[in-house]
Amino acid sequence: MAAMGKDVVLRVEGLKAFYTSKKGLIRAVNDITFEIRKGESVGLFGESGAGKTSVALAILGMFEDISRHFASTAANEDNVRLWEMKDEARKKGITSKEIGVDLPGVEGHIWFEGMDLLTLKEKDYRKIRGNEITYIPQGSTKSLNPYSNIEEQTAEGLWAHDEDDELNEFLVIKKVLQTLDLVELGDVDLRKGMKPSQFSVGEDQRVLIAMALIPDPRLMIADEPTTAVDMAIQLRIMDAIQIAREEMHLSMLMISNNQGTISQTCDKVAVMTAGHIVEFGTTETIMNSPGHPFTRAFIMSNPSMAVIRKIKEKGMRIRGIPGTPPDLSEPTIGCPFKERCEYTLDICRDKKPEYREVEPGHWIMCHRYEELPSW
Ligand code: SF4
Repeated sequence: MAAMGKDVVLRVEGLKAFYTSKKGLIRAVNDITFEIRKGESVGLFGESGAGKTSVALAILGMFEDISRHFASTAANEDNVRLWEMKDEARKKGITSKEIGVDLPGVEGHIWFEGMDLLTLKEKDYRKIRGNEITYIPQGSTKSLNPYSNIEEQTAEGLWAHDEDDELNEFLVIKKVLQTLDLVELGDVDLRKGMKPSQFSVGEDQRVLIAMALIPDPRLMIADEPTTAVDMAIQLRIMDAIQIAREEMHLSMLMISNNQGTISQTCDKVAVMTAGHIVEFGTTETIMNSPGHPFTRAFIMSNPSMAVIRKIKEKGMRIRGIPGTPPDLSEPTIGCPFKERCEYTLDICRDKKPEYREVEPGHWIMCHRYEELPSW
């Protein structure tokens, strides 16, 4: 991808995020690059296990701590040795590529507002996490405190980052009410003292969105924010996110395997499978003229109404992606989609395709893009 432009809020460059498990080293995110501009919303779109949440955790500076925590449950000799090598390499300032061994942890660059987050100390990261970069986690209504009312919980992010003691109760309450209004919670004045259990799941979800919006972040990461609610509520929550985002000129990384969610909220889409971004482009390009065989197969496996119409017009059948995703404990040789792709040739097995720009702003990782039938 091109060098970082002035209005780029986040640039993820050559990011790798590996962790250890009982199966060995899992290459969850394997050398991905993308960027998000000011006010832009980019979707990470792909099947479960593709590495989408690992990307979010890496940006938030949480991937390595969580990996080390879980490493203790899979602490065989090989895994312990890998983490020791990682610590040694870090002390010496060398990368896994330089020593020729894949290591656990995060490598690459995560540029945020011009600084590389991967070089920050934890105390500096804490000033950014939950403040300049906020997060709506997956299955997130469980993360609300059942004993605290929604006014207190929405205000937490403000108080936690008030290092210069600039806030007062009046300002905080005003901001809480404004933000809960912005996500259209309804009757905020009357209900601000109520606990999460007194709201519907959809309303709790709005509280979580308000918590992510209240610090006026530069970037909000939303990880499958509507999986717990039905379709009608999903649409209303997506609307609330869009309205708030436009009002605040907020950049967003939306993580989802749902075409509707991505289409409704994203300007651009990065398609992920097996830890790789295999296609990147505008939402219109990805949803209406996908170029990569994985993107096409993934869209066809769970089609929107527009795709169903197209499938019928072309006399095709709706079908799932054949086979299972590759074993990420094995290094990727060749194309990460080679075992499930209907167009695989020998070159796909032997050589990893380059990630190349096939038209302005449209990136694809496939040897055979030019030879594929039109969509
Ligand atoms: S590189 Fe080969 S295996 Fe991979 S998506 Fe393209 S055609 Fe399919």
